[in-house]
Amino acid sequence: MLYSELCNALEKIEKNSMQNYKIKILSELLAKSHEEEIETIVMLCLANVFPVDTQKELGISSHIIAQTISKAFNISKKTVIDDWTKSGDLGTTAMNLCNMRTQTTLFTSAITIRKVFFTLQKFADIDGTKAQGKKIDFLTELLSSADKTEAKFLMRTVIGQLRIGISEGLIKEAIQSAFYSRIYWKSLLTQKRNEKKVFEDILNEKDKKILIEPSIAEFLGKKNKEQFDLFLDANDIKTTTKETIEKTLKKSGFFSKSNNIDLCLVDDVDFGNKLKSTVSDKINHAYQVTNNLALIAKTSQKEGEPGLDKLKMRLFCPIKVMLAQKAKSFEDALEGVGTPAAIEYKYDGIRMQIHKQDDKIQIYTRMLENVTKQFPELAETIMTNVKCDNCVIEGETVGIDRHTGKYIPFQYISRRIKRKYDIDKLVKEIPVVMHIFDITYFEGKSCLNTPFCQRRKIIEKIITPDKCIVLANQITTSSVDEAKSFYNKALEDKQEGVMIKNQNALYVPGSRVGTMLKLKPILDTLDLAIVGAEYGEGKRKGYLSSFLLACRNEQTGDFLVVGKLGTGLKEKEEQGTTFKEISDLIKDDIMTQTNRSVLVSPKIVVEVAFEEIQKSTNYNSGFALRFPRFICLRPDRSINDINTLSDLKKIFQNN
Ligand code: AMP
Repeated sequence: MLYSELCNALEKIEKNSMQNYKIKILSELLAKSHEEEIETIVMLCLANVFPVDTQKELGISSHIIAQTISKAFNISKKTVIDDWTKSGDLGTTAMNLCNMRTQTTLFTSAITIRKVFFTLQKFADIDGTKAQGKKIDFLTELLSSADKTEAKFLMRTVIGQLRIGISEGLIKEAIQSAFYSRIYWKSLLTQKRNEKKVFEDILNEKDKKILIEPSIAEFLGKKNKEQFDLFLDANDIKTTTKETIEKTLKKSGFFSKSNNIDLCLVDDVDFGNKLKSTVSDKINHAYQVTNNLALIAKTSQKEGEPGLDKLKMRLFCPIKVMLAQKAKSFEDALEGVGTPAAIEYKYDGIRMQIHKQDDKIQIYTRMLENVTKQFPELAETIMTNVKCDNCVIEGETVGIDRHTGKYIPFQYISRRIKRKYDIDKLVKEIPVVMHIFDITYFEGKSCLNTPFCQRRKIIEKIITPDKCIVLANQITTSSVDEAKSFYNKALEDKQEGVMIKNQNALYVPGSRVGTMLKLKPILDTLDLAIVGAEYGEGKRKGYLSSFLLACRNEQTGDFLVVGKLGTGLKEKEEQGTTFKEISDLIKDDIMTQTNRSVLVSPKIVVEVAFEEIQKSTNYNSGFALRFPRFICLRPDRSINDINTLSDLKKIFQNN
């Protein structure tokens, strides 16, 4: 497929905020994708060039991208930076400046999706002193042949953010719509006038096989209401009953690609939901166990439902972790999860998912980044002290003060995630202990559908505690008093609070579930991205300070400012994270400087405490944090993981 075809679809999605329209465009794109390209297309729609669990990165700073635009279009870097300052996005800048390209740099050869994908994939293997130069050359070649829209999306792909609101949920819907019968129901029509238009457009599509309930036909002004129990052509709308719709779908293999039915228009929400969720449940499940939408799209295209059923959790393909909801009180929590509940320490460390098969161990963070090399002592201990042929265990790894033996806060151990050199030295300096609290795979089978109390029994059986790995401290109780004293003990032990878990709960990857709750004393913290700063004065001279913090608008992908951060950062290294450390981290991503202020492409995530959230017209989020205070850098979280505008709205409304 030509890259322009993908980019034109992305452009349409950017210009229209209606979810159904976005799904329609994406599903059309997937439906016409070639078998060998569909995975690439899905990945590019999510601005991914490498699978999530690989350590690979493009390794390009915003300034290198700006330099590439300047070189490819043969214009000055200043012109690029000036436009970037105005647009705030290098993709938009590439688009804006595309027409200034001079004849010498103008290529006419069309770029294909494969060419883009494989060129970018090569970046991960380019290193050495000339690496940046080579990357600029490769990118320049692509950019020189790109039209405006291609230039915009190419640059955004390199940055890792398309900024057009394509979520994983949207891709799942598009896969469903492209490869399985589409189900619509009437309330969708009556709620919004535009939806009716969508329906009418569908009915005008050629060569579609449609099942439709009589009342819908009437609603849409179609006169012909004959009973009909076979597939129908969209040009000849006829109707059939609920029972026949269900029977026909089942008979023809509801999920198989060749079921011959393109869509069903039904009357009520319940029936529509029932039909639709039969398909979406399968897709969701496949996503939970594979964490790979590209694979799901390919499987759906090739094999339909039977293919989805065959997708299973696999060792060394990490899954998304299950997340907890917040509890207000012990009373609420115990009532919420049901008693007796399992209560565990909530450790303040790095969440890890460890895959083991015979003598192979791989360690992944919550972001599914592979950190095996950084934690050699853990890998070694898991090898000897976890007795089974294969498993996936989960836990929280906490740092220990080597002099006192006491737990240390997250910010110290976070240094171990990013460290790529002198690892042995750091192993000695910051020893760790992993508190194992779950198992999701055991002896060749997934345990996602095994109740939590049984999963705990398995880890109790196979793990021999050692200085490096122990089981999470747990009690089971129905008593609020007992729960409270356990919580106090956790706080005395310098941990964050407790987790309260339903004993029969299944493991739901990637979901924030009501069967696992967290309770901690301090006011909640937010994970936010740094998008700007000001050069400091006095002791902070030469460094950036007063960092602009932003949350993410999950609809548009934009970063919206919520406040400025200065408190909590230090001047001296031995005191904690310094202004210098953050300045060094962001200096390559400074987009623009006006007097003392700089704007930065979002890349660095920080955890921040605050007193309250207020409405504010000072910032484009519409909110401002009162007294934000730096807690720590979050190298284990990506900018896609930060708190969203809706999170802020929720916190604001609850206070
Ligand atoms: P939060 O990051 O505040 O949403 O809290 C949830 C996190 O607590 C999980 O993602 C884990 O990393 C961490 N955690 C610490 N101890 C436990 C435990 N015993 N069970 C589950 N999660 C835990």
